Amino acid sequence: MPPDTSSKKPTPVIIAGGGWSGLAAAIELAHHKIPVTLLESAKQLGGRARCVRFNDHQVDNGPHIMIGAYSSMLYLTKLMKLKESDLFIRKPLRLFLRSLKTRKSFELRTHRIPAPLHLLTALLTCSGLKASEKWLAIRFMNNMQRRNFILDKDVSVSDLLHSEAQTEHLINCLWAPLCIATLNTPLEKASAQIFIHVLQESFSEKRKHSDTLIPKVSLGDVLPNPAFDFIERNGGHIELGQRVTDIHIQDNAVTGLSISDRKMAADHIILALPQYAAHTLLKPHISCNTASDKLQQFSTQPICTIYLQYPRQIKMKLMMTGVQDGISQWIFDRRICGQNGLMAVIISAEGGHINMDNQTLIQTVIDELAILRPDWPKPLDTMVIREKRATFNCHTGVSKHRPDHKTPVMGCWLAGDYTNTGLPATLEGGIRSGLECARAVIQSIEGIKSINEERSNA
Ligand SMILES: Cc1cc2nc3c(=O)[nH]c(=O)nc-3n(C[C@H](O)[C@H](O)[C@H](O)COP(=O)(O)OP(=O)(O)OC[C@H]3O[C@@H](n4cnc5c(N)ncnc54)[C@H](O)[C@@H]3O)c2cc1C
Repeated sequence: MPPDTSSKKPTPVIIAGGGWSGLAAAIELAHHKIPVTLLESAKQLGGRARCVRFNDHQVDNGPHIMIGAYSSMLYLTKLMKLKESDLFIRKPLRLFLRSLKTRKSFELRTHRIPAPLHLLTALLTCSGLKASEKWLAIRFMNNMQRRNFILDKDVSVSDLLHSEAQTEHLINCLWAPLCIATLNTPLEKASAQIFIHVLQESFSEKRKHSDTLIPKVSLGDVLPNPAFDFIERNGGHIELGQRVTDIHIQDNAVTGLSISDRKMAADHIILALPQYAAHTLLKPHISCNTASDKLQQFSTQPICTIYLQYPRQIKMKLMMTGVQDGISQWIFDRRICGQNGLMAVIISAEGGHINMDNQTLIQTVIDELAILRPDWPKPLDTMVIREKRATFNCHTGVSKHRPDHKTPVMGCWLAGDYTNTGLPATLEGGIRSGLECARAVIQSIEGIKSINEERSNA
């Protein structure tokens, strides 16, 4: 019979899930010297932002773009004493997109001047838009600023842009690539409120917030690996390959959880899982019905990544190139990670490509790249990664379903990119959620401690 540890002195906090939200929560708790155990069902940390192997290369599950506004992520790297310049190349935003149909390009670059002037000059000096379209884009940002980036009612991004008289060409060049890259949801469905919140965080406060942070190392070395060391060094404990199968609740308070071979007692459990996995654990408990019903309302959107290994001398001019009028959306040149000749092509959100088999998908992407770079030879090797449930569907009105950290059950907490952060499903959203959840847990533990101290002093 497996050992039952439920009667032993409970671990104050157990975190289920070792993605970036669970890791953020564990780092914050360990930093506050609160003993924490993190259980991850996979054999590695990182969740959706994990590493995979492609021949001799360690690549990412999908290349992840980060920006200067990822303040919580930068807070964590600082806490773990990592140097930003060892992890990322920070560059002012440079959006460069080329159309496969017209071969015309669009380019927008921010300059090193204070916000929001940096955006104003970027829009005025960008290439590929008519002067009238530049003014329309500036007027749009100005209108959003005047509304303090809050809409009376959430509508789709497409409806908002049309109501603000943005032309189809302007939408295709600027707003659509930004919306799909950040919300991973087509414009006709995407939440305008969440989109303008992203614009606010990226462009309205500090110039450096719109910088791109392109990882120089694999995603594992940005957070999961340093986090493992930090948590273990600070009294925490991580177990891999441990799937949480049940949570235990008594008198509306958490008492512990089960993994495949044992029970573990806990005062607090943070479910840092994707919404559908948290739903599975909460569903059997009547007291969690409202919370689990909310989680069931979420749908998901896919992301496809196609890795293409070309000969080592092959390279793009830029690290990140946008593609219009095809199925490919962004090409990332991995030479920045020392992987010469390796291109990662990203296709975000739903679309016709989902029904293509891998061979057709790869060939279509190769043909599209050949339009941009006819001088390139055939790739030597390819790999497709399809993440069917890459992000929650960031559709109009989705914020209504996004839960807070606290559940109706004492000691049962939720963290993850889908919680009520106001951001789309991003690394920063996951991290902020994990940090805020950990701080709420710390407050609860400190509160109980001070009540006990008052009692014993009385
Ligand atoms: C291909 C792709 C590209 C992306 N690109 C970007 C980008 O460019 N920029 C950006 O900011 N974001 C991007 N994202 C989104 C980002 O990866 C996610 O928002 C973030 O990783 C979510 O972290 P999380 O901790 O909330 O969830 P997850 O990463 O899903 O972590 C949950 C963890 O829980 C574990 N788990 C599940 N069930 C159990 C259980 N029962 N017991 C124990 N453990 C369990 C899982 O294995 C997983 O490790 C991308 C995502 C994908 C898939």
